[in-house]
Amino acid sequence: MRYLLPLSLLVFAAASGPTTAATFGKCKFDKQSFAFAGTPAEQASCLLRKVKILGNVDAAPAQLPANLAGFIGKPVTVSKAKLRQAITAAGLTEAGVGGSLDDPLSRGNTNNPNAPQARYFVIHDTSTPNLVNEPFPADIDTSNRVNRLDRYHDATDAKAHIFLNRKGETYVGHKLNVPWRATKLEGTIGTLSRGMFIHIENIQPRRKHPSQPDGNAPTPGFSSTQYDRLALLYLVASTRAGTGLVPAFHAAMDEGISNGHDDPQNFSLADFDAAFGRVLAGMN
Ligand SMILES: [Zn+2]
Repeated sequence: MRYLLPLSLLVFAAASGPTTAATFGKCKFDKQSFAFAGTPAEQASCLLRKVKILGNVDAAPAQLPANLAGFIGKPVTVSKAKLRQAITAAGLTEAGVGGSLDDPLSRGNTNNPNAPQARYFVIHDTSTPNLVNEPFPADIDTSNRVNRLDRYHDATDAKAHIFLNRKGETYVGHKLNVPWRATKLEGTIGTLSRGMFIHIENIQPRRKHPSQPDGNAPTPGFSSTQYDRLALLYLVASTRAGTGLVPAFHAAMDEGISNGHDDPQNFSLADFDAAFGRVLAGMN
């Protein structure tokens, strides 16, 4: 999750060349439409390209798994009563998933009423704590040292909307109706993008690696409970939007921008999709 200062628009425009349309990032965010290029499914295929070590992102579009493919960009019709039951069953509250299900999400251009509502659900890993020379602990998914959320507490400047640990607990840094930026790409686009992206940080420790600035990631990268809760958060945010949000990996967004990030590492789209299928099945 390294925090980075935004590049100036001028630097990016110069790098794009004078004849190139003013889009941003490999997936081509367009300021006119407040969206990346293509249909919502095509955008997801670009934004979910696999993230490899050192933040190298697969060139090939991701193959969308079935549950996500049937949901992204489509109207969301789940019952809020059922969703509230699922939140309670997960040991969470509406406050713990980013605010009331009756509230809309943030809007673009810093909650400008004329801008569209958030469309993107950005998946991060915290890359912390870094255990340096120690091995990952056997109890990585439950250990307090790895999973404590208080290190991310910040009353005004938390780096994401929601932090999710490997036990399935959350810390809400900003409610989902608060416009908040957490990627280099958003900084490059400018304030117009502020509010179009919902940011979820998943706790993932790292350890020292001589040639990887953020260190080695564990395998598997995330716990099954984390996938279950992330899927629930995705349904919550999409329900508030009224439309299946486009999921995105931070590194795929920032690809091609200098000093971009390498997260999330070892993220299984198949495991996330399976978890999402279970959440959806609970809505019937
Ligand atoms: Zn990130």
